[in-house]
Amino acid sequence: MAIVKTKNSIVRVLKTRHLTNSTYVIRTKRDGLEFEAGQYISLGLPGNAEKREYSIYSGTEEDYIEVLVKEIDEGIVSKQLKQLQPGAHAEMDGPFGFFTLDEASRSGKELVFIASGTGIAPFHSFIKSYRGLNYKLVHGVKYGDEAYEFETYSPGSYILCTSRDNQGDYHGRVTDFLMAQPVKTGADYYLCGNSQMIHDVYDLLKDQQVGTDSIHAEVYF
Ligand SMILES: Cc1cc2nc3c(=O)[nH]c(=O)nc-3n(C[C@H](O)[C@H](O)[C@H](O)COP(=O)(O)OP(=O)(O)OC[C@H]3O[C@@H](n4cnc5c(N)ncnc54)[C@H](O)[C@@H]3O)c2cc1C
Repeated sequence: MAIVKTKNSIVRVLKTRHLTNSTYVIRTKRDGLEFEAGQYISLGLPGNAEKREYSIYSGTEEDYIEVLVKEIDEGIVSKQLKQLQPGAHAEMDGPFGFFTLDEASRSGKELVFIASGTGIAPFHSFIKSYRGLNYKLVHGVKYGDEAYEFETYSPGSYILCTSRDNQGDYHGRVTDFLMAQPVKTGADYYLCGNSQMIHDVYDLLKDQQVGTDSIHAEVYF
């Protein structure tokens, strides 16, 4: 992995796209931030000690930075960021993290991305950053309207698993999907989202003979 310098900047908000009542994409100026797809930044209001980590959602070639945020009812920063209007400022530190793709993965290795909720963000950045990835993306959400910007993904590569309605490709959790359709060994597995999903999928993949070296994870909460 290339060494990238972290920096701290006050950045201008360009716009916000509201994808559902609670989930939005906030776009800020990039101001020269260098990052690798899969890394995250820390974001909050300027001068405010409360900051949270967010995976970068946009691609490395874009001249802005985007993050995909779910507003948490009892949360602090996810609510504050939602209120920011175009022209307002946010404080950004980073980039951080090692949830990135190596050369072999960018050059045709079979990849399986497994996300819960906004855990889809680093995979969106991978797909925007690297042309021709050989991937399947399994996305677990509660309801079909959480298939955030699914049109980004190549046809047949995106599998939506909905646990609370039947608007997805599969009705059930990602773990149910992976039990119904056991995986092939030889691929690399990238898991991102809540810790329960990651633990359950990790155990399931090990039971299906996937080596632990082939499993990579980023835990959100
Ligand atoms: C490396 C990393 C990357 C992350 N990337 C993203 C991202 O791309 N998008 C994103 O929305 N969040 C992401 N998160 C989670 C994010 O950092 C915050 O925890 C989240 O936005 C809540 O912050 P808050 O201040 O609103 O709530 P807080 O006051 O910090 O937390 C309130 C409660 O909500 C829980 N919680 C946190 N996230 C969720 C969630 N998604 N669903 C349900 N409960 C949750 C917390 O565990 C806590 O119990 C990431 C976390 C990490 C560690």
